Amino acid sequence: MITYSELVQKQRALFRSGQTRSLAFRTQALRKLRESIRRHERDLTAALKQDLNKSEFESYSTEIGVVLAEIGFTLKHLRKWMKPRKVKTPITHLGSTGYIYQEPYGVALIIAPWNYPFQLAVAPLIGAIAAGNCAILKPSELTPCTSAVLAKLINEAFPEDYIRVIEGEVEVSQALLKEDVDYIFFTGSVPVGKIVMEQASKNLTPVTLELGGKSPCIVHEEANLKLAAKRIAWGKFMNAGQTCIAPDYLYVHQPIKALFLEELTKAIKELYGAQPIQNPNFTHIVSERHFDRLTTFLSNGDLYYGGETDRDQLAIAPTILTNLDWQAPVMQDEIFGPILPVLEFTSLTEVLNGVLDHPKPLSLYLFSENQSVQETVLQTLSFGGGCVNDTVYHFASPYLPFGGVGSSGIGAYHGKGSFDTFSHEKSVLKQTTRFDLPYRYPNVKNGLKKIKRFLK
Ligand code: NAD
Repeated sequence: MITYSELVQKQRALFRSGQTRSLAFRTQALRKLRESIRRHERDLTAALKQDLNKSEFESYSTEIGVVLAEIGFTLKHLRKWMKPRKVKTPITHLGSTGYIYQEPYGVALIIAPWNYPFQLAVAPLIGAIAAGNCAILKPSELTPCTSAVLAKLINEAFPEDYIRVIEGEVEVSQALLKEDVDYIFFTGSVPVGKIVMEQASKNLTPVTLELGGKSPCIVHEEANLKLAAKRIAWGKFMNAGQTCIAPDYLYVHQPIKALFLEELTKAIKELYGAQPIQNPNFTHIVSERHFDRLTTFLSNGDLYYGGETDRDQLAIAPTILTNLDWQAPVMQDEIFGPILPVLEFTSLTEVLNGVLDHPKPLSLYLFSENQSVQETVLQTLSFGGGCVNDTVYHFASPYLPFGGVGSSGIGAYHGKGSFDTFSHEKSVLKQTTRFDLPYRYPNVKNGLKKIKRFLK
């Protein structure tokens, strides 16, 4: 069997041959990827059902469909993105022209998590291909069925010196991180993100880190409560809360809290029925370890709604917890499950300080019709991205680069953002030889005086 070092060498050799750089090669690869996904769509849906009990609706809308749309968008715009961009030059550079060339890095390593095990592995791969790189992809070991289909689908479509999926446990990730690759794109938890960055620093390899954290969702008194409830229930309980950008906790304005919580429970019932853990379309928790961690939170604060569990099926019902504060165990780390703690506020300042006192979130959601409240929140708080009057939906726009800030991540992708992430921007000045401005040379009479006229 080929070693990881040999694989990297083989990919680098292909990259050096220049083949991966042409528009024709990249578009052909993207089309091949699309065909292979379509060919394996049923296997993928079955694997996602087996790994996480994902419904066909969720599998298509949040995994397969999102990826197909991303490929379509990339194919449509790639020619334009690849063109060297002409930029302005200052007066001091008279006669020359500036260009930015988008240059592929070489061999990219992509490490993916388990919560959207197909989409979060393939979406970065689309960027890597579009930008002209070779790629090694390591899916999560916690969703083995999807990982197997992914390996089949990709390794069947591409030769190993171009793209390779390598399945396996954490040790595989650790071994791959020791290789000297040209780019690392990691999606996963904050602690592992730190390990990845440490490893990358050994070779000064550039990284994108798509991490997590506690994403707040603020419900202000001037919100459309019914719609807020529906959109929050959708964003929180999709994939059973195992979404990096799910609202982690709510900050609800005290005057409308009772009314809003009634609307929220109604919305949950409408979306998932009165007995969600028996709903065959409700996603399950990925492992016993994750299930056991989550169920310890059920006794935090007061149980307002839900709380039912089924360990055999790894199912936890959508749950709302009230009467708790930042000291509660459920408020210490990202929850990553269908449990929604509700904090109450009376003034917006409390919310702003509460969020500012904690690491910068990956996402933030605000429900309010009040423009000034919207602007205050958007101008005061730092977060990766988010929505006003919605949850999660920003993720699916190819025009909005998606990523974190601070401990929720470094870098962004989706749409052109993915192409840019996997490209180095090479700045080039093309100088004229028709004349030679004399002022920069040290032997010119009054040179300093003239330079001072331009550089001030
Ligand atoms: P994880 O960090 O445990 O694992 C992610 C990947 O890293 C897996 O492929 C795993 O094999 C590998 N890995 C695990 N431990 C490692 C180690 N010590 N050294 C090297 N590699 C290692 O994350 P997860 O549990 O799969 O995913 C959940 C986390 O991911 C949550 O924190 C969530 O917020 C975050 N996430 C972020 C995004 C985003 O786009 N920002 C998307 C999904 C999930």
